[in-house]
Amino acid sequence: MTHLHHASHQPTLQYHVFDAVVLGGGGAGLRAALALTEAGHKTAVVSKVFPTRSHTVAAQGGINAALGNITEDNWEWHMYDTIKGSDYLGDQDAIEFMCREASEIVRELEHFGVPFSRLDNGKIYQRAFGGQNLNFGQEQAHRTCAAADRTGHAILHSLYQQNLRAGTRFFDEYYALDLLKDQHGEMGGLMVMNIHDGRYHVLQSGHILMATGGAGQVFRNNTNASINTGDGLGMVLRAGLPLQDMEFWQFHPTGVAGKGMLISEAVRGEGGVLKNSLGEDFMQRYAPHAKDLASRDVVARAIAIEVKEGRGCGPNKDYVLLDLTHLDDATIKARLPGIRDISLTFLGVDPAVAPMPVFPTCHYMMGGIPTDLHGRVISPDKNGAQQIVKGLYAVGECACVSVHGANRLGGNSLLDIVVFGREAAKTISHALHQNSSKKTQQAGSADIELNLDSVLQRIRRWQNPAPSTDTLLAIRKALQHTMETGCGVFRNQDSMQKALQQLVQLQQRLEQVTLSDHSQAFNLERLAAYELENLLAVAFATVHSALNRTESRGAHSRVDYPERDDSEWLKHTLYFNDGHRLDYKPVNLHPKHHAAFAPTERTY
Ligand SMILES: Cc1cc2nc3c(=O)[nH]c(=O)nc-3n(C[C@H](O)[C@H](O)[C@H](O)COP(=O)(O)OP(=O)(O)OC[C@H]3O[C@@H](n4cnc5c(N)ncnc54)[C@H](O)[C@@H]3O)c2cc1C
Repeated sequence: MTHLHHASHQPTLQYHVFDAVVLGGGGAGLRAALALTEAGHKTAVVSKVFPTRSHTVAAQGGINAALGNITEDNWEWHMYDTIKGSDYLGDQDAIEFMCREASEIVRELEHFGVPFSRLDNGKIYQRAFGGQNLNFGQEQAHRTCAAADRTGHAILHSLYQQNLRAGTRFFDEYYALDLLKDQHGEMGGLMVMNIHDGRYHVLQSGHILMATGGAGQVFRNNTNASINTGDGLGMVLRAGLPLQDMEFWQFHPTGVAGKGMLISEAVRGEGGVLKNSLGEDFMQRYAPHAKDLASRDVVARAIAIEVKEGRGCGPNKDYVLLDLTHLDDATIKARLPGIRDISLTFLGVDPAVAPMPVFPTCHYMMGGIPTDLHGRVISPDKNGAQQIVKGLYAVGECACVSVHGANRLGGNSLLDIVVFGREAAKTISHALHQNSSKKTQQAGSADIELNLDSVLQRIRRWQNPAPSTDTLLAIRKALQHTMETGCGVFRNQDSMQKALQQLVQLQQRLEQVTLSDHSQAFNLERLAAYELENLLAVAFATVHSALNRTESRGAHSRVDYPERDDSEWLKHTLYFNDGHRLDYKPVNLHPKHHAAFAPTERTY
């Protein structure tokens, strides 16, 4: 380990060398780290919170795999549902790969110790989830493997324990700022800050895996933890690389009204029904076949329309009701204990006795860092040809592989993170075996001079406190409000143009604001500043991508362009930081094993 003192006003940097650095201790990062450590590579995991507090812990409903424990099932039906759910924007090669791997990877999780709920015959319990059918769109499937309604908690803890056993090195409560390049312009490492003492460290490695999760904090009402600020996305944009399909954000139909936290789709999977102020089961009108278990974008829009047309409930008619009262208390306690807790705590409602007030809430980011199905980050060259970015990988919610396209099916994200986490680790391991010279890298600055200065400049920007009337918190709140009103469940040209103007003003405010505190909390203030820079970058990417897509597809619902337009828009958006530039690339319609599914009208 080397200590290097730079010129005055520059922080002291401490250097560490690893074969691979995994940025993120959620399900995606931990699954990848486990495979890397087990393959004998010196692997670090960096997480800004203790790993088992990563947002995977909040996943409730379950993970999809065509195990067929309740009804006959197969991966091709799962593949079809995922492609249809994506509104045909998902890449069919990646979706096929994920669905084929699903059953085996769930069994692997079982062997890692995940305590899945059980059927009477001892097999894993599988519940009904939205947008999932048997036989290419026929009857409802039971495909979502559940550990009660705490599936993410169970998976994350098992993966963490496995990593402890294997000997992964953890940098807990370290905040990553930026990617560093080596003197050849290739991946050189990661700049991180120890949140406790505010010191900066450089983790040197030629292989960096981004697994930083989602960015739901960009919207006011959301189901995400406050740490979900899109840091990995900001880092990638600052490195000159694109983000893909950032116009597609999933609004979960059933957030706690006025508060945002999630009431899982598992509630409707167990028989819960949505009702308006007339007591009507209104989903029958919007999705006569699948009803309450239609795809999420369909149900979220239906609720928003019911409220807009005056059939909302409560004094302000601004929510609908999710009714479980026809289920018996014992079933609710056994299958939905976490939801019961949330309802009792945040709504004061026992779901066995009274229905729960719900409204759509921002939940999941379908877009992210573009990758191939082996987890390698890809970016177009000057001629538009997609090239692999050497040494950089991305998996999980921060990545766009793209298996979710324009709309994710519930239960497919937990699957995505473990399937592609494991696959990216295989890719990195293979690269490490091919290029063992990276293993002999020496700790020190010589290897990473190329863009160190620009990263240090960012650090200096937030180094010195001074009085200012504006605050980071005020800017963050204004940003969330702007995005919710300008680019929410429904959007149009006007609402998004206004949002853009407001984002430009917020950018100016962020450039002027100073930090207020010089005490212990100063590290947290700095961290909040870095996070806000990333949130703003994500907001710009979202609005620019959404403004230019003049159609409605999946979760991107434009009032001024209500139809899907495959002739013009069956393609992925790429957004770059420089000048808010946009580019496009085709959807992959070439699965390896199954014939392609051609886009057709999407009804439920
Ligand atoms: C309430 C809720 C319920 C859900 N339920 C389901 C479900 O039932 N089924 C399903 O399939 N999906 C579900 N999802 C979605 C799914 O849980 C997530 O998409 C998935 O867990 C994301 O995993 P991840 O590993 O990519 O990211 P996360 O688990 O969010 O982990 C991100 C990691 O990155 C680290 N990190 C980020 N930025 C930095 C930084 N700058 N420096 C250091 N560390 C950093 C964090 O500390 C964290 O360790 C749910 C989501 C929510 C919000």
